[in-house]
Amino acid sequence: MSLAGRRIEIRGTVQGVGFRPWVYRLARQAGLSGTVRNDSAGVTIEAYGPDDAIAAFQGRLAASPPPAAAIEELRWERLPGQPPAEFSIVASSETADRRLSIPADLATCGDCRRELLDPRDRRHRYPFTNCTNCGPRFTITLGMPYDRPATTMAGFTMCRDCQREYDDPGDRRFHAQPNACPLCGPQLALWDARGRIYAAGDEALRATAFSVLGGAIAAVKGLGGFHLIVDAADPEAVARLRRRKHRYEKPLALMVPDLEAAAELCELSDEAARLLASPAAPIVLLRRRPRAGVAAEVAPGNPYLGIMLPYTPLHALLMAELRRPVVATSGNLSDEPISIDEREALERLAGIADLFLVHDRPIARHADDSVAFVLAGEPRLLRRARGWSPAPISLPRPVPPLLAVGAHLKNTVAVSSGDGVFISQHIGDMETPQARDAFAAVIADLLAMCRVEPQAIAHDLHPDYVSTRWARAAADGDGAAAAAALAGVRRIAVQHHHAHLASCLADAGVAGPALGVTWDGTGYGTDGTVWGGELLLGDAGGFTRVARLRPFRLPGGEAAVREPRRTALALVWQLEGAAALADGRLAPVASFADGERQPLGRMLESGFRSPMTTSAGRLFDGVAALLGLAQRVSFEGQAAMALEYAADPLVEDAYPFALAAGEPTAPEDDADLVELDWRPLLGALLEELHGGVRPAIIAARFHNALAGAIVELARRVGEPRVALSGGCFQNRLLTERALRGLEAAGFEVLLHRRVPANDGGISLGQVAVAAARLESEIPEEE
Ligand code: ZN
Ligand code: ZN
Ligand code: FE
Repeated sequence: MSLAGRRIEIRGTVQGVGFRPWVYRLARQAGLSGTVRNDSAGVTIEAYGPDDAIAAFQGRLAASPPPAAAIEELRWERLPGQPPAEFSIVASSETADRRLSIPADLATCGDCRRELLDPRDRRHRYPFTNCTNCGPRFTITLGMPYDRPATTMAGFTMCRDCQREYDDPGDRRFHAQPNACPLCGPQLALWDARGRIYAAGDEALRATAFSVLGGAIAAVKGLGGFHLIVDAADPEAVARLRRRKHRYEKPLALMVPDLEAAAELCELSDEAARLLASPAAPIVLLRRRPRAGVAAEVAPGNPYLGIMLPYTPLHALLMAELRRPVVATSGNLSDEPISIDEREALERLAGIADLFLVHDRPIARHADDSVAFVLAGEPRLLRRARGWSPAPISLPRPVPPLLAVGAHLKNTVAVSSGDGVFISQHIGDMETPQARDAFAAVIADLLAMCRVEPQAIAHDLHPDYVSTRWARAAADGDGAAAAAALAGVRRIAVQHHHAHLASCLADAGVAGPALGVTWDGTGYGTDGTVWGGELLLGDAGGFTRVARLRPFRLPGGEAAVREPRRTALALVWQLEGAAALADGRLAPVASFADGERQPLGRMLESGFRSPMTTSAGRLFDGVAALLGLAQRVSFEGQAAMALEYAADPLVEDAYPFALAAGEPTAPEDDADLVELDWRPLLGALLEELHGGVRPAIIAARFHNALAGAIVELARRVGEPRVALSGGCFQNRLLTERALRGLEAAGFEVLLHRRVPANDGGISLGQVAVAAARLESEIPEEE
C-alpha cells in the first residue's frame, strides 16, 4: 500500500455553502489526512492516504456535493511532501479570499425543513433555523471576514447546544454563522399598525395567518426586506393592496405553499420546478392554467404568474398555516426600495399594512426577490438579487479594479476585483430620492465588501442620468458622493447598447466579436439621439453600428413613453402624413380628445419637443396602441408585454419589411449602415387591422417580421456569432423566434443567463468596456 498525496482544486459555487465541512467529513470517513481551505477562486484540498482511497474520495467529491454547491471545474495534481497527522479545515486567511467569503442567501434546506416540522426536534416550529447548507448570509453580513461577530447575529449568544453544534466539524451546523435555536436566537413579534406588540412567538405567526385569511394586509419582515402579504384569492384584498401601494397594473408576485400548489396554478416544467426549489429560490414566471384560483387583480391580462416557494423557515411556517397562494410583493410604495427595518417600515408602510410580523434579527442590507424564467430550456434572470448577490461573474482574465454605476432603470452597480465582477443586488429605477439614497449606499457597501479602490468609474454616456451625475460628482470630489473616496478617479463613459453587447459577451464568458442585436426602450446614442433598435458589431473593446431601425419621432419625448398612442401616431404619420390624425378608425386617434390632435400634428410636423428615436421598444409600444391594447401605461414595457401576450403563437407567417441604406449619423456608424425599414410592415398591418383581422394574428405577424428581420440582418453582416441583449429580449416570443431562425441559418446565438438582458445587466457590460478601454489605453473622449 503506497501513501500518496493529491492537491485538488475545485472551482464553482463552493464557498459558504457548507463545502469545507462536507469535504472534512468525507476525508475523515475515507481515513485520509490533509487540509481543506478556501482560496481566491474556490476550494483547495490537500489529501494524503492510500492512492485508491484518494481516488474514491475524489470521485465522491464530484458525485454528491452539498445542495447549494455547484462544481464547475475540478483539477488535481500529485503532491509530494509530508502528510499531516490528521485532516483539518484551515481557517480563511487575511488574503484575497476574504473578498469572496460572503456567500449569497440560501433557501431553507430539506434537513432543516424536516426538523422544523418534527415535534421531537428542539427546533420544531422555530422560524430562524438554518445550517451550513442554508440560511441567511449576504443579508446579515456587516463586515469582513464572514464570521458571526461581523453579522447581525452578533447580539445573540449561542446556548450550549448551539455552540456544541457550531464547534463540531462533524455537525451540519459546524461554523454555520447564523446558528440559533428557540432558546438563544431571534424571536417573532406581531405589531399592530401603530407598533404596539400584539403577540409574540408562535402566537404571532398564527395570528398573522388568521388575519391574512380574513382579508388583512400583513407586512412580514423576511430575509432581505419586508413583504406585503394578502390572500391571493381575495379580489377585494388584492385591490386594496394595489390602491394603498399605488401600484395599479404591474403584476404582483405570489408565494405558494409547495411545488404541488405551484403546479395547480401554472404549467410547471421540470426545469422550472428545479429553479423554484433551488437554493436561490427565485420568483419564476410560469404560464397560468385557465382556471387558476387567484384573483384577476393579481396579474391583470397577463398569461403568466410570478411564483415563489417559501424560502425561509418563517415563510414555510406561515405558508403551512395559510395553505393557499398569497400575494407576496415587496414592502414599499411603488418604485421605492424595499423596507428592511421594522421601525422604518412602520413609518413607510403606514397606511398600507394592517399588521406587522417582525423579528429581532436585523437585516444588514436589502435584497429583493430575484425574478427568473425558463427560456430555450435554461433559467434566465430578469432581476438578479436574493440568492445570487453577491456571487461574482467570473471573467476569462483579471481586469483592473473598477466601479460601474449602471443605467437609469432597473439599476445595478458593479465592482471588479481580479477576474471577478461583483454585481450589486437589484436597486431599481432611479426615480425617487429613496432609490438614489439606496444607490449611493449600495456603492459604498460594495466597495467596502470587495476592498477595492477603483482605478476608474464607468458610467452611461447619457449626460443627465442620475448615475452619470453621481459619477461626475464623485470623481470631482463633490458632496456626499466623495464619501466613497473616489475623488480624482478617472471616468469612462460607455454607450448604453455597447454595454448591452459587452454584458451579453461577459455573461457567456466569450471574448467576441459578435453581432449584438441590442434592442430596448431607450439608450443615449453617440449621435445624441435616442437609440434602441441597434445592431452593433464588435466586442468590449469597440463597435461599429452596422444597422438600426428606421428613425421615428417621440412626440413630447418622455410623454410618449407614458402614452404609446403618441408613438403610434408618429409611426402612421410617416406613411400617411397628416391624414393619420384624422383616421377615426385608429384606436390611438379615437383616444385623444378633439383639441389634442392638432397640437400633436404640429409637433410631428415641426419636430418640436419630439426627438428622433430608433427604439425597438417604442415600436412595440406603438403597435400595441394601434391594436387597441394600451394607449397609456403605468410602467415601462407594459404595452410591449400586452402585444406579446396578445400574439397567437401558432401563427407562423409575417409581415414584409425592407432593408435599405441608412444615412450614417454617428461616428461609429458603418459606411454601409443598413436601415430596417418598418414602413412596409406597418402598411400591411394597418390594412389587416382595417380589414378586421384579429389582433392575435396581427401581433404574431408583427413579432415574426421582426424576428425574421434579425435573421436577415445577421445574414447580411455575416458574423457567425449573434448576441441578443436589451429589454426586448425579455419578450419570449420574439426571442424564441429569433433564436430558432438564427440557429436554423447556422449562427451561434448568445442569450443572457447569469445577468438580465434588461438594464440590470448594464453594469457588467460597463465594467467589460471600461476594462478593455484601459487595456488599450485609448484616451477617453466625452
Ligand atoms: Zn439547513
Ligand atoms: Zn441555541
Ligand atoms: Fe437598455
